[in-house]
Amino acid sequence: MIKFPIYLDNHSTTKVDPRVLEAMLPYFTEYYGNASSKSHEFGWKAEAAVEFARKQCARLVNCEPRDIIFTSGATESVNLALKGAAEANAAKGNHIITSLIEHEAVLDTCKNLESRGFRVTYLPVDEFGMVSPETLEKAITPQTILVSIMWVNNEIGTIQPIGELSEVCREKKILFHTDATQAVGKLPIDLAAMHIDLMSFSSHKIYGPKGAGALYKKGKIPRVRITPQLDGGAQEKGLRAGTLNVPGIVGFGKACEIAMTDMAADQARIKELRERLYSGLIGGVENIKLNGHPEKRINGNLNISISNIDADSLMISIKDIAVSTGSACSSESVEPSHVLTAIGIDNKLKRSTIRFGVGKFNTAEEIDYTIEKVTEKVKYLFSIMPEAKRNMKGDHASV
Ligand SMILES: *Cc1c(COP(=O)(O)O)cnc(C)c1O
Repeated sequence: MIKFPIYLDNHSTTKVDPRVLEAMLPYFTEYYGNASSKSHEFGWKAEAAVEFARKQCARLVNCEPRDIIFTSGATESVNLALKGAAEANAAKGNHIITSLIEHEAVLDTCKNLESRGFRVTYLPVDEFGMVSPETLEKAITPQTILVSIMWVNNEIGTIQPIGELSEVCREKKILFHTDATQAVGKLPIDLAAMHIDLMSFSSHKIYGPKGAGALYKKGKIPRVRITPQLDGGAQEKGLRAGTLNVPGIVGFGKACEIAMTDMAADQARIKELRERLYSGLIGGVENIKLNGHPEKRINGNLNISISNIDADSLMISIKDIAVSTGSACSSESVEPSHVLTAIGIDNKLKRSTIRFGVGKFNTAEEIDYTIEKVTEKVKYLFSIMPEAKRNMKGDHASV
């Protein structure tokens, strides 16, 4: 039994896991203390819950719990990491390197830093959306103080060679930040075995609540310095002022714990569903172009361009399936996706691009319905556009 509408937009956000909600509820109703209240039981309970969540988050990415700073989400973590590191290291240089395909959280923060006198290089990517370690190395100058490259792209799902990229930075003693919002909980991450100085991630992309996130900041060898971006209290070792979102953090911790135990099984199932969706669609519709890397991609992502089909018209005709044309975060603007531009998709094909984000709550029935519906609607859109009819399998005779 399918429950409509079908949610296939799991890169934008995810449904809260029922186990996460259950863990959170007592922190609204019973243990509602302020984690900074040191003088009574309510405060102690809240503080203990936050410290337990810190351990759960740390375990998922294999780092020290004290290296986790809780924030309101990845956008805040990225702002704190980039502005904080740039300000703290401004005496050493003013050059920052990032890529053309970053999330707006990184790109807009870099724009802000540019307006404050920092120079930013935006590295190009290849046709699959990959940043090459050689290109990074060549872009480094004596003025470079910080590099920020996302681990997994939120539109096309490409997984960057983060190990190699961070290694280039370690050799040159340059801080390396990664926006791992789409990687955490989906790929095994072992920070203890890597040379990452700063890493941003978020709760609501991994079946936790919205409004909670984390910045990993390496505490030792070398200790990474950043300046706080909020004034108003000594919370999170003075790096993030403001009363902690205890229920959100508890939920985030639980989501991390679940991701840790269920990752292998969930990812295997998600991969199967994604492959089922892709083969089903290419079985019915010709001229589908897969965007992103054929292998080095996150399991839940399917980003395709269907020649001659206007993706917005297609999306409107399949209202009972929630998908996205391009990045949801930039969909409020009319600008075509900067990620598709960076991988060389022409403007016409960009408008024919649709992103499916498969998640752990999706079922094979939902995928089959989606294949059927999309194929049917594409056939319809082609039928009112006769010259392109040859794109349809089985319709050759009528062309
Ligand atoms: C969703 C997302 C963000 C923003 O995260 P929030 O927690 O919503 O602020 C940043 N980067 C990437 C890659 C994302 O997918």
